[in-house]
Amino acid sequence: MIQEIELFLTPDQCSDNLLLKRSIARHLGVNIDHITGFEILKKSIDARSRNIKFRFLVKAFTDEAFQPTQIQIEFQNVSNAKEVHIIGFGPAGIFAALKLITLGLKPIIFERGKDVKTRRRDLAEINRNLKINPDSNYCFGEGGAGTYSDGKLYTRSNKRGNLQEILSLFVYHGASPNILYEAHPHIGTNKLPQIVTSMRKTIESCGGEVHFNSRLTDVVTSFDKLLSFTINNDTKIIANHVILATGHSARDIFEMLHRKKIFIEAKPLAIGVRVEHPQHIIDEAQYKCSIRPDYLPPASYSLVTQVEQTGVFSFCMCPGGIIAPAATNTGEVVVNGWSPSKRNGQFANSGLVVSINEKDYLKYTKQGPLASLQYQKEVEQHCFHAAGDSIKAPAQRISDFLNNKFSNTLPECSYLPGLTSANINQVMPLEITSKLKIALKDFSNKIKGYNSMDAIMVATESRTSSPVRITRDDLTLEHVQIKGIYPCAEGAGYAGGIVSAAMDGQRVAEAIALKNHQGKTIMK
Ligand SMILES: Cc1cc2nc3c(=O)[nH]c(=O)nc-3n(C[C@H](O)[C@H](O)[C@H](O)COP(=O)(O)OP(=O)(O)OC[C@H]3O[C@@H](n4cnc5c(N)ncnc54)[C@H](O)[C@@H]3O)c2cc1C
Repeated sequence: MIQEIELFLTPDQCSDNLLLKRSIARHLGVNIDHITGFEILKKSIDARSRNIKFRFLVKAFTDEAFQPTQIQIEFQNVSNAKEVHIIGFGPAGIFAALKLITLGLKPIIFERGKDVKTRRRDLAEINRNLKINPDSNYCFGEGGAGTYSDGKLYTRSNKRGNLQEILSLFVYHGASPNILYEAHPHIGTNKLPQIVTSMRKTIESCGGEVHFNSRLTDVVTSFDKLLSFTINNDTKIIANHVILATGHSARDIFEMLHRKKIFIEAKPLAIGVRVEHPQHIIDEAQYKCSIRPDYLPPASYSLVTQVEQTGVFSFCMCPGGIIAPAATNTGEVVVNGWSPSKRNGQFANSGLVVSINEKDYLKYTKQGPLASLQYQKEVEQHCFHAAGDSIKAPAQRISDFLNNKFSNTLPECSYLPGLTSANINQVMPLEITSKLKIALKDFSNKIKGYNSMDAIMVATESRTSSPVRITRDDLTLEHVQIKGIYPCAEGAGYAGGIVSAAMDGQRVAEAIALKNHQGKTIMK
């Protein structure tokens, strides 16, 4: 018999597979020998009371052969199939390419950055020598912004795609199978680069192409149709279908489209700071214990409140993580966060951001669809100047920020390029700092110690989503004005995060296959 059962277990009852099997047998009222096997479908922690429990959803096999679910992924050789061009090799570009292959189309990818191995050297340059390569950094390069991240793999946009298929593709390419059932799966910065490389190898082994150091610099259109595009200002490529998956930081793409009068729109976003605490403060508050026991992972949190009808919320929380320098050009400070797979660093960091709406970027109306981009740029540039024209980011103790007081000393922080003590009240726009202050008071009621002396804020967390929408038709997913261009994922304003970008990449690939080939393989 096969049964799905829900179990609430103490840490001791599920500390190894045999104990878990015993709990399953007890729940089913059978002798343990009758359990031929089991599969965990979902696992989460319930830490609301002091008696922490693990919730399991388990598929148990009794008195019949155990048949574990197999991941079945079939790729085909598309060397001679019809070509689809993809710009950008982030999660959207990668998953679009893998989907095209399964649909019998040949993906040809152009990525401005370098392969993961070479890209690593440019990241070291940022951290050590504060130098930013505009084509190779924490946002640009193989795997996109997702490569050197925490690799959190959860999304609120389940309905738009097949989450299990995305997770299975990660497992197929080397991620731990745990991500298939953990309630909040994550991969970790140390593991993502190998997984991304393995995905590229799949694409290449099926006949797809991946070209690095290849920046899209122009598109040529006639009336309402794409004719060709240009790479690195010199190579012209005639194309019928181009997936534009260039991410939220490809400002040159937004500017190029606007210059060419291709329709784009300004879009609200969220801007704030990254806060960092010693991990034990978060552990103590969330698990209500003085020392986190080994069976519990470093604690995380998700905070949200409304201030004057505006959302203020935590974003991309990284337990045991590092604050990363995520600028894509000189003259700006941008921070983000990542964690290794074990999340075993001594700090917990998270974005804390305020929603920015039309009324906030009203003064940039003259910039048309680039208005919120201009707002975002200026906040980042102010931070750079406040740091003495450097990416040694402006930082302040949260307690001093609340008292509008410069921090004479700063606590230890994970941000490698270094910090500049600054009064963030004077560095960032009032509509952001005033709301952060009110929100922080609320958050310290939810997490004890949140505003303590050891908590620091680092400016600025500004690349939370795209400041521009490259608008597409809801049905065909083609650009509303230019046929043949498929705006995709985060940069086009249709996704946020690794999984939702991957799902959007798949959707666009399916739309192209449906439109042109009804899903059948077509040879050239
Ligand atoms: C440090 C950090 C940590 C993060 N942590 C998480 C996390 O834990 N979980 C999560 O869900 N999300 C996280 N994110 C966000 C996540 O990485 C993005 O949401 C996701 O990568 C978006 O995917 P995308 O494919 O749409 O765009 P991107 O990943 O931005 O990829 C776009 C690609 O296009 C390339 N490109 C840009 N312009 C051009 C051009 N002109 N020509 C050719 N190529 C171009 C870029 O080099 C880039 O590789 C993190 C981001 C950062 C920076």
